[in-house]
Amino acid sequence: MYLLSVVVPCFNEEGGLRKLHDALVAALAGRVPEYEVVLVDDGSTDRTLPEARELAALNPRFRYVSLSRNFGKESAMLCGLRHARGDRVAIMDADLQHPPDVLRRMLRVLDSGCDQVVARRDRSGERWGRRAPARWYYRLAARMCAVPLRDGVGDFRVLSRRAVDAVLALPEYTRFSKGLFSWIGFDTAYVSFRDVRRARGASRWSFRSLVDYGVSGLVAFNDRPLRSSLCLGVVTSLLAAGGCAAALAHAAAEGSWSAVHAALTAGVIVVGGLQLLFLGVLGEYLGRIYAETRRRPHYLVKEVGPEPAPDGCHRL
Ligand code: UDP
Ligand code: MG
Repeated sequence: MYLLSVVVPCFNEEGGLRKLHDALVAALAGRVPEYEVVLVDDGSTDRTLPEARELAALNPRFRYVSLSRNFGKESAMLCGLRHARGDRVAIMDADLQHPPDVLRRMLRVLDSGCDQVVARRDRSGERWGRRAPARWYYRLAARMCAVPLRDGVGDFRVLSRRAVDAVLALPEYTRFSKGLFSWIGFDTAYVSFRDVRRARGASRWSFRSLVDYGVSGLVAFNDRPLRSSLCLGVVTSLLAAGGCAAALAHAAAEGSWSAVHAALTAGVIVVGGLQLLFLGVLGEYLGRIYAETRRRPHYLVKEVGPEPAPDGCHRL
């Protein structure tokens, strides 16, 4: 016997929640001992919250938490994990791009004794323009990051209670869940699935938010960019010393300084660019340190429903 909690972050998912409800009930009813669904309304501006209320009234297995504004999927997931009461916790998207049938397969794999089962999509539904940069990014990340990040792996996963508790014990403010789930370790299994198109609406990812996410991934789990600035500094200093010596020798031989001026100007521009680049790298780390030191909550809750029973018991 176990209780499965399904955590679903939702941002402006009106119209899709009913479908999600039907798909989850069809996939889970009678096939898992007991389950609950925690919908986290991440400050939606459409009818997501009223729909979540309706679902909770309709089906006692559905609960919701509504945040005071849009805090982003990472915070919504954290909130869902904190509210999940299950011995096993699944995380999935509201748009049915994470098919509940795959969830059943993942639960079977978890039965075999591991602590995390991660779904891996094959990116077959993506344009080349998005697939190729993702591949390059993960190759770069594999070289740079201290924790393994795999292409096609997202937040669709099932965790044992001890894995959830391990993730919840990580206090960082700037969260990059993909890395955090990987960082905690434990036995992990992968399940592949074919890409599914969004049931409705459009993806919330803009180019900018993808770049932000990518930079977080590289910066959150390693200090190699800082180390590489040190190495590059040493290399450029050596090159500059060699260049100066060569320029002086050239000027002495030719009796003219014009070539030396040109070389110096080019050198100053290159070094200036490198300095700005590494100031940017420092800035990335500094911004994160600043966010951590403020110690603000990851999110604020506006409404939780339905209210838990006075004795704190779950209504299942
Ligand atoms: N989401 C969220 N907060 C946000 C953006 C997205 O809770 O600020 C939810 C969204 O409702 C969905 C999931 O995160 O359930 C994935 O979002 P989306 O489908 O836009 O991303 P994609 O599938 O393109 O990666
Ligand atoms: Mg989606």
